[in-house]
Amino acid sequence: MMRRWKLVPWSISVRLALWFAAAMLILLGLFSAFSYFTFHVARHRDFDQHLIHETRQLLPFVQQGIAGPVFVALDTLRSVAYQTDGIYGTYVRLLRPDGEVVYESPNFARHAPLPVRVQPIQEPQVYSHVWEDKPARTRYTPLFSEEGRLFGWLEVTGFEWSLHRELHHLGLVLGLGILLSTLLAAVGGYWLARRALRPVAVLTATARQIGADNLEARLPVPGEVRDELSELAETFNDLLDRLAASLERERRFTDNAAHELLTPLSALRSELEVALRRQRSAAYYHEVLQEALRDVERMTDTVRGLLHLARLERTDTHERARPIDLVERCQTRLKDWQPRLMRAGLTLDVVLPERAWVCGVPEYLDEVLDNLLANACKYTPPGGRVRLEVHQIDGQVRLRVSDTGIGFDPEEAAHLFDRFYRGRSAEGKPGSGLGLAIVRAIVEACGGSVHAWSDGPGRGSTFEVRWPACPVPVLPA
Ligand code: ADP
Repeated sequence: MMRRWKLVPWSISVRLALWFAAAMLILLGLFSAFSYFTFHVARHRDFDQHLIHETRQLLPFVQQGIAGPVFVALDTLRSVAYQTDGIYGTYVRLLRPDGEVVYESPNFARHAPLPVRVQPIQEPQVYSHVWEDKPARTRYTPLFSEEGRLFGWLEVTGFEWSLHRELHHLGLVLGLGILLSTLLAAVGGYWLARRALRPVAVLTATARQIGADNLEARLPVPGEVRDELSELAETFNDLLDRLAASLERERRFTDNAAHELLTPLSALRSELEVALRRQRSAAYYHEVLQEALRDVERMTDTVRGLLHLARLERTDTHERARPIDLVERCQTRLKDWQPRLMRAGLTLDVVLPERAWVCGVPEYLDEVLDNLLANACKYTPPGGRVRLEVHQIDGQVRLRVSDTGIGFDPEEAAHLFDRFYRGRSAEGKPGSGLGLAIVRAIVEACGGSVHAWSDGPGRGSTFEVRWPACPVPVLPA
């Protein structure tokens, strides 16, 4: 199924800034919530300590009376806190085990009745609640007689105003901090993203100027520091290199094809024009037609060779390569070549090892062998010798075809493998000048190299192909 991309009308900078701000919001939010919660718990614990302290102060004055717990030395007890109203006051009550109030401190007088919350479990209990719309906290302490019997409860209550005011304040500060930081993160993120992406704008502008006509232009590689953008620019430049090379190949192919076909086509055309100028004999027409057929065959060979070269230059040769025993290929091809060389009046010497593995494509290897042997046959006069050798030297497999034929100048050696190159001494011999170019294309596609040398015209020549040796494949037993 095709993935549908939702179009986002925002630029990368805006999106980055938003991501940045969102990340900040989440992080600060979590941190603030944690701080708020921790502070809240700590403050409650402090307040509980305060209630415990108050309880401890009071406990020595509580005794078991007839109707429940009673305070003794009540005058001492009437301290400031138990009379003070509001946030600094401590509200004290004595309860019977069933929760009935038997005493309450004077500061209760100005307040609404406080419901009793104590539960029938004989342990200290603490409750947070709202008393007259204000946060309050109450601690119940069980009172036991000497025999260990519950005879009542001491209830101590205090308002938590200041605590909640502090928490409220903290919440406000944290909220405002989060808001400001998020805003700052968004603005800063946007600015940073714009700054970081500025080289992209330069790359885009340059890339826009590159067209099929000026493929030589290259993207600037930003900065001395290697980063994603310099990598992108380099990758793009590599792509341009490959595109330019492939375009150049196409151009060369078209030029070569046009040039190489135009010459025989013009010759063919004038031959036909001359033949048609007046009435000719049947034998003349026959001869002209045969000549025309030869021209067409030559042109077909040329086009076929060019197409073959074009195909070889696409990289799939390397992918199709597999280990091949070059010796076995030589032996197979020699079955064809031995009689042909003999018919051409040439003596063949063969030096082959047992096996020699190279990585290649079988039909292409045959083509290399055929081209080299065909040239040796074509450029060696009858009575000469042709020698085929395979050696394994320094991790390389070397195929050498040498002859005692027409040879070539040392300066010609550099051009022998160019397309359509035909040596001076090759004049008059049939050929299109593509054979050795094809050999080189095949060999190089498989990681090898080709070399040619000669002692000079008329003194024979040697062609050598070198492949990196291929690991010996495991053959089925
Ligand atoms: P062609 O043989 O069709 O001309 P090639 O590409 O096979 O094209 O060879 C290019 C040129 O290299 C030949 O024209 C010839 O000058 C030279 N050459 C190739 N093989 C030999 C050889 N064995 N001896 C001398 N010259 C050779």
